[in-house]
Amino acid sequence: MYDNMDMATVKSLDSQHVMATYQREDVAFVRGKGAVLWDTEGKEYLDMVGGLAVCGLGHCHPAVVRALRKQAGLLLHTSNLYYIQKQAELAARLAPLLPKGLEKIFFCNSGTEAVEGALKLAVLATGRQGIIAAENSFHGRTAAALAATGQEKYRKGLGGLLPVLASFVKYGDAEALSAKMGPDIAAVILEPVQGEGGVVVPPDGYLEQVRTLCDMHGALLILDEVQTGMGRTGKMFCCEHSGVSPDIMTMAKALGGGVPIGAIAATAKVAASFTPGTHGSTFGGNPLACAAACAVLDTMVSRDIAAAAASKGEALQRKLSALMKRYPAVIKEVRGRGLMIGIVMEGERAKAFKAAAFSSRVLVNVAAGNVVRLLPPLVITRKQLARFYDVLEEFCQKDAPAEQCL
Ligand code: PLP
Repeated sequence: MYDNMDMATVKSLDSQHVMATYQREDVAFVRGKGAVLWDTEGKEYLDMVGGLAVCGLGHCHPAVVRALRKQAGLLLHTSNLYYIQKQAELAARLAPLLPKGLEKIFFCNSGTEAVEGALKLAVLATGRQGIIAAENSFHGRTAAALAATGQEKYRKGLGGLLPVLASFVKYGDAEALSAKMGPDIAAVILEPVQGEGGVVVPPDGYLEQVRTLCDMHGALLILDEVQTGMGRTGKMFCCEHSGVSPDIMTMAKALGGGVPIGAIAATAKVAASFTPGTHGSTFGGNPLACAAACAVLDTMVSRDIAAAAASKGEALQRKLSALMKRYPAVIKEVRGRGLMIGIVMEGERAKAFKAAAFSSRVLVNVAAGNVVRLLPPLVITRKQLARFYDVLEEFCQKDAPAEQCL
């Protein structure tokens, strides 16, 4: 009875029955292809958000759709009481792509679950309880992941629900980390580039220093690649830029090409602390999600999607940096890696740009209040990126105080 629902009906049903945890844009999308989305009225939008870094291969990539259709006709779910053919296949495809030393994988359903499991594994593997995380970090919304999230706004009012294991240090400051390290520290957890915190890239050499400190103190290094992984930053995993391998790594978002799946990878030694009964998930690694992820990995490797993201991202960042020089009163900084780009704007301008872009039917996201965060599908075309750039340039032209237009 609700087929082809119009926008007014969607909004009305949503406000009656869905908990109000999201501040939604005034649109519902019903179809997508590559970097393009269509709304309930058939209007076309350019997607520079990519489902928050999920749609690395774009919307409805044919290889993913084909794999899902095939698997849906065979088997959807059996539980982890039994061996799962597609899960074993996915693990075998993912393992050779992981940073050096990571060999074993646990599958779950989301980023926060991957982080939750990673923290649990670190505590079990070291017999220690302390976790150090970074200020301004984001690791998810479940209790332990939230306890390691260094932004008060996400933790407010939850008090005793959150384990008080984590302490926070300034991101990018190895000396501050060194001062907090000690024999009770199980793990240091970091994003290789902070995403939700506003696309913050740490200084060169930081991850190497963190690795050394962890080794010195017998602590594990957990890298949270939930947002940065799967080619987003121009390498399959962001830590490859530094050559640093973690002991535990988390993934999710783009791994399933739009189907929920997350994963924890660990060294064989660390992974040995997960024994039957210590961890689990009803849905984790089910045949449908794993079939999608197999298709994602195949496509990412065979089409060298990460290299394409690196080159498109570099070209866009160069253009954005040149634009910043022309409009310093609007754009304060351009930062990021590959196709994970933050455009830092003055005051409320990031939000104003989001609204202006939306009226030009271009979707962007704002992180940390003043950063336009771009996470487009990695398959976005150069022409589509040029369209985004034109919309931004027009905004800058209109918005810049006249005396500051160079
Ligand atoms: N870790 C990082 C780095 C993330 O960016 C996110 C989500 O944005 C999460 C964890 C949580 O992922 P999910 O929303 O799938 O639980």
